[in-house]
Amino acid sequence: MLRFLKARLRQRTRTSEFPRGTPEFPDRFRGRPVFEPSRCGDCAACRARMPSDLLQITPAGRPVLDLGACLFSPEEAEACSSGAIRFTTEHAMAAGAREGLRSTTGEFQLAAALERKARALFGRSLRLRSVVAGSCGGCEAELTALGNVVFDMARFGIQFVASPRHADGIVITGAVSTNMRDAVLRTYEATPEPRLVIAVGACAINGGPFRGSPEVGDGVAAELPVDLWVPGCPPHPLTLLDGLLRLLGRLPDPQARRAAAETTPNKR
Ligand code: SF4
Repeated sequence: MLRFLKARLRQRTRTSEFPRGTPEFPDRFRGRPVFEPSRCGDCAACRARMPSDLLQITPAGRPVLDLGACLFSPEEAEACSSGAIRFTTEHAMAAGAREGLRSTTGEFQLAAALERKARALFGRSLRLRSVVAGSCGGCEAELTALGNVVFDMARFGIQFVASPRHADGIVITGAVSTNMRDAVLRTYEATPEPRLVIAVGACAINGGPFRGSPEVGDGVAAELPVDLWVPGCPPHPLTLLDGLLRLLGRLPDPQARRAAAETTPNKR
């Protein structure tokens, strides 16, 4: 017994302090890419080398970064020979709108809080049903990690449940394969309203590495209204947790703070 207590004391608390403080990631972690259009060189050549749709060119010839299509691979950064695209170790990336993941400036729109009534409903207890709609298993491994002692999603009142009838929302991973499309739609229908839809990973957002295959629907966008888009391949557990807490209004909204600072008269 004494040995057990000693081991317990030695272990201390292993749960992440998130959302307090700034989480630290190893240098090799590839988080939110930054984009410096001023450094852009031959974007068409970079686009041709890019293994994903991370870099897109508008009809007017402007480069656009699409975080939703990003596979967070070293090849994507290497494809940009001028160094205009590079990965940081920033984990916060989830957006409330698909457009929030696209940027011509390197600024992305993080998810804003739900309206007050929805926050009152889901803010202290959110139950989610996971639907694996044709994925490689990577995203689900990260979802599972959310339940471990480090991330411990349940401390925020967020848990996965076995039935959509007991859920407040569904979390979809995978590119929505032809075989899974019906299951996705039926799970959505079985979830009582009001319900949230959360697309996790590049596959669910736009098909990811399976994009263009005749066997997949290139993500959930064509099927359901999505409330939270969580980029990554797979997303880090803190990326999803950060997005969920922003949606529930439990993290400060950086865009609102910036807007307030811009409208507040300078007192000096
Ligand atoms: S987004 Fe990446 S990790 Fe997630 S299911 Fe697709 S290929 Fe796998």
